[in-house]
Amino acid sequence: MKNSLEGIHFQTGKPIQVITRDGIIQEIMELESSESKNLIAPGFVDLQVNGFQGIDFNDSNLKESDVLKVTRAMFESGVTTYFPTIITNSDDSIRKSLKTISLACASNGLIQSTVQGIHLEGPFLSKEEGPRGAHPLKYIQAPNWEKFSAWQEAAEGRIKLITLAPEWEGSFEFIEKCVESGVNVAIGHTAANTTQIEAAIRAGATLSTHLGNAAHLMLPRHPNYLWDQLASEKLWMSLIADGFHLPDTVLKVFLKVKPKTTFLISDATSFAGLPPGNYQSPIGGEVVLNKNGRLYMEKNPGLLAGSATSLLQCINYLVDHHLTSVQEAIEMASVRPMQFLDRGYSRGLSSGSIADLLVLDFNRANLEILQTIKAGELVYSK
Ligand SMILES: [Zn+2]
Repeated sequence: MKNSLEGIHFQTGKPIQVITRDGIIQEIMELESSESKNLIAPGFVDLQVNGFQGIDFNDSNLKESDVLKVTRAMFESGVTTYFPTIITNSDDSIRKSLKTISLACASNGLIQSTVQGIHLEGPFLSKEEGPRGAHPLKYIQAPNWEKFSAWQEAAEGRIKLITLAPEWEGSFEFIEKCVESGVNVAIGHTAANTTQIEAAIRAGATLSTHLGNAAHLMLPRHPNYLWDQLASEKLWMSLIADGFHLPDTVLKVFLKVKPKTTFLISDATSFAGLPPGNYQSPIGGEVVLNKNGRLYMEKNPGLLAGSATSLLQCINYLVDHHLTSVQEAIEMASVRPMQFLDRGYSRGLSSGSIADLLVLDFNRANLEILQTIKAGELVYSK
């Protein structure tokens, strides 16, 4: 099927017509002028989604239909590719969640093409208070290839990203095996020293997961694991730019250090997309979601209880706070995570690419999703 879209190229600012055929961008033509002032951009890619709109991928009662619900909610916020994220839990709960997501992918073409992998964040993380974040201590453990292989089997090979703390003994061999089997390895929820981080990079780790979060409240000035990861040209970095997880000065400096190898994640929990109010969290107890989107512990308002924002809200935050241009923010939420996965091959808006496209309203202070197109099909329209 042939379709065409007209609007403004999000990078060049020039009027364009995008022609898609059978789910692929066939041609992008520059026009003299365009009636439409809407931006055309590639679909967003979110490599860390724990849940959305009341659904938690880590819930032991997760159903296949829930995965479809989250997928549809993703389209509304412009996400055309995402990684459901399974966090630290009992061995059996991890296996069950992976199995359900995998079955949902196998039974529905739309889920299959949108869920392009699963992110396993845990349980091979740091036990220390701070780096561990909200991951339940009793299930934290050393990397174990047999367990990982069993989970990968339950996921039918869909685990494409694992976040681990490389200070555990056996990490080097474990990372090598992951990389050999096509799994991307991220450093995160870690208290590793310089030598351990260097070893992880030599073994094949290529990402720092939400750098600057899940860290000690107090750190030695240097060396420490933030400098060690920032200094490495081999490590990409994912950031939660929601305005609550990292202060603007930190975002500003991090973005200067790795301008081309940073991408955004929402790290959204099941509270994302819900109205403000008081809620019960399975790990955190009573939590509050305020009208600005800050999610915190009711008994300790200084502690965040996870993220409740979408990638679109993070983009708008960066632009609104003059931390990046609109183009850069969109790139960090679309082209960059794809380039991280395919080692720089992705070109975003270009002929021959899958037609995962967004039409965005740029007339207001904030970007707004008008249309989401997944492999040439309209999947959301405002
Ligand atoms: Zn995390």
